[in-house]
Amino acid sequence: MYIYPATPESVREAARIIKGGGLVAFPTETVYGLGANALSPRAVAKIFAAKGRPQDNPLILHVRGIEEAARFAEVSPLAEKLARAFWPGPLTIVMRSLDIVPLVTRAGLATVAVRAPRNDTASALIREAGLPIAAPSANRSGRPSPTTARTVAEDLGDAVDMIIDGGETEVGVESTVADATGDGVIILRPGGVTREMLSEAARVLTPGGAPLRRSPGTRHRHYAPAVPLLPHRRGDVSSFAPLGRRWCYIGMTEPPEEGEPPLKKILFASAEDYAKGLYSTLRELETLCDVIVAELPEGGALGEAVRDRLKRAAGETI
Ligand code: AMP
Ligand code: MG
Repeated sequence: MYIYPATPESVREAARIIKGGGLVAFPTETVYGLGANALSPRAVAKIFAAKGRPQDNPLILHVRGIEEAARFAEVSPLAEKLARAFWPGPLTIVMRSLDIVPLVTRAGLATVAVRAPRNDTASALIREAGLPIAAPSANRSGRPSPTTARTVAEDLGDAVDMIIDGGETEVGVESTVADATGDGVIILRPGGVTREMLSEAARVLTPGGAPLRRSPGTRHRHYAPAVPLLPHRRGDVSSFAPLGRRWCYIGMTEPPEEGEPPLKKILFASAEDYAKGLYSTLRELETLCDVIVAELPEGGALGEAVRDRLKRAAGETI
C-alpha cells in the first residue's frame, strides 16, 4: 500500500522521491496535487503521462512564498501585492517566467503560474524537497479533481510513487488563477480567492471587447463525471423536460417537482459546502444515475467557482 498518513516521516520520504525524479500525490487546501520536481523536464513529463494531460496545458509551480517565487519568475509590484495579500492560500499568480523553468513545465509559454499553498503538509513537502514542485490536480485529465487520497489511488494507481493522505481537502475546488503580468489583475479561472477579495487588494480588469487573455487549460474539457451533467438554473423547469432517465440532483435548493423524482438528491447548505463536496459527489452519483442535474449556485463567495466548474463539467468551454 502506498498511501501514507501525513506524518513528518512520510513527508521526508515524499521529498526524497521528488528529489529523485518521482511522483508524489499530496494534499493542498484546494484539491490533491500530483507533484514532481518542476525544474526537471523528465520528472515533469511523468506528470503529463500519468494524468494523460495535454502537453499544451501548463503546470502550477508550488513554492513557499514570494522570495522563492522570485527565483523562478519576475515578481512585478502587482504580483507582489497579490502574494502579500493571499499567500499562502488558494491564489495562483501568472508572472513572466525566468529561463530556469523548463519549457515543458510552462507548456512553452513566456509566463509561469506560481502558488504558495497554505496546507501544512504541502508546505512541509516543498520545504523538505528544497525545490519548486509542479503539481496539477492528481486525477486523470478531464475527470473531477480528487479531494481524498482514495480518489487519487482510484484514478492514478501505480502511476504515482506515493500518496500522502491528509484527509478531505478544505476548499474542494482549485485555486483562482490570476494573470498579474499587465496593469491590472485578470482572473483566468475563478476559485478559492474570490473576485471581491482580489478587488480589495488590487485593480481587477474585466476584459471588454479586447480578446480575452485565457488560461490554456480552459480550452480543455474538465471536471466531467462519467455520465452527462446538466446545469440547471433555479426556476428553469424546461431543463427537466428531456429527462425521463434515472437522474440525480445536486444543488442548494429543492429541484422542481416535474415528472419522476430524482433517484438521489444532495442539497448543500452554502456555496462553500457545495464547493467542498462537489467533486466527491459527482464521483458518487455517476455510479448511480444516467444523468446528473446540478443547480448553478446563485450567490456565495465560492458560487462563481462552482458555476464555472459545473459548466465545464457539462462540456461548455468558457
Ligand atoms: P490544474 O493544475 O490542473 O488545476 O490547472 C492549472 C491551471 O493553471 C490551468 O487552467 C492552466 O491553464 C493554468 N495555467 C498554468 N500556467 C499558466 C500560465 N503560464 N498562463 C496562464 N494559465 C496558466
Ligand atoms: Mg486539473
